[in-house]
Amino acid sequence: MVNDCVSKIIKPAILAAKAYHVPDAKGFIKLDAMENPYVWSDDIKAQWTECLQKAELNRYPDANASELRRRLAAALSLPDGTAMMFGNGSDELIQIILMGLNKTSNVVMAPEPTFVMYRLLSSMMELDFVGVPLNKDFSLDLAAMLDAIKTKQPAVIFFAWPNNPTGNAFDQAALEEIIKATSGLVVIDEAYHAFAQKTMLSCLKKYPNVVLMRTLSKLGLAGLRLGMLFGAEEWIAEFDKLRLPYNIGTLNQLSANFIIQNLALLEQQAAQIRHDREAVFNTLVKIAGVEAWRSEANFILFRVSTKSADAVHTQLKEKKILIKNLHGTHPLLENCLRVTIGSDEENQAFLVALSSILSG
Ligand SMILES: *Cc1c(COP(=O)(O)O)cnc(C)c1O
Repeated sequence: MVNDCVSKIIKPAILAAKAYHVPDAKGFIKLDAMENPYVWSDDIKAQWTECLQKAELNRYPDANASELRRRLAAALSLPDGTAMMFGNGSDELIQIILMGLNKTSNVVMAPEPTFVMYRLLSSMMELDFVGVPLNKDFSLDLAAMLDAIKTKQPAVIFFAWPNNPTGNAFDQAALEEIIKATSGLVVIDEAYHAFAQKTMLSCLKKYPNVVLMRTLSKLGLAGLRLGMLFGAEEWIAEFDKLRLPYNIGTLNQLSANFIIQNLALLEQQAAQIRHDREAVFNTLVKIAGVEAWRSEANFILFRVSTKSADAVHTQLKEKKILIKNLHGTHPLLENCLRVTIGSDEENQAFLVALSSILSG
């Protein structure tokens, strides 16, 4: 009875979709979701909770998050005239951008494999998502992209830069060629900026059809949910109309205000993670049966050849280590897995477990 009603009322695209699956990670060494492994010191925690005492939870949040806006603008050295808006994670910003598309131009494009939310949110909104395969080495297939732009006329093109799950940052000159070739909006998603240490922010001034996203999630505040969208006032003004007025709660605003004063701490952690990433990579490529790709993010993509990725993933889970199995998600990711860089002990535990699984 209820089923009949549900299937009549809900969009077919949603009925057909699978819910985004987040595995239960209790008791695991969690290296599957690009989280920062470091917890705050008691001293920082005490300062933070003191900040939260200012919250007046009987009132609605500051809809403009003005204090946060001011502090971020100062901390981020944005190009002059750049407007910004906040999302409940950059996931929400992707959703907002897609919601704004004109009905007559509903093609969304991205190279693939890439961050799954671009495709997932597009299909739930019944937009036409076109994934253009990357080259075998995960570089951008510029000719294929330009060709797809010509034939499909996308309204929006998403580039995760560096790309998730491959870890590489596409050639910037190729990206600029694409920006020039499309009449659509190009979204540069710099979720891994802290680990790549480069930015395409300068493109905001150079090209009228570019906006750029960042997030605090991968830097160390995945639990906070704060995404940022930067771009010309004309773009941001429209997207801001689609934002629910109180999408960033008071506690989140106060917490973000606090942590921006302590950005140096997060940047130090990111430097440690970049350092550990190189060490993990160097060990990983020495394990027989492993091919790994250099990464500019806080994770490493690798392929196993002497066992299936499914078997490796399962056996790691039996050893209480959780990483991401990408086998079956895209033809280019056959027998591929992705491991997040954790603390030194976590990385060592993972490397020891993987060696033993592959030699067994
Ligand atoms: C993790 C990730 C995001 C999501 O960030 P949130 O701010 O946590 O929603 C966005 N883009 C890419 C490429 C990511 O890997």
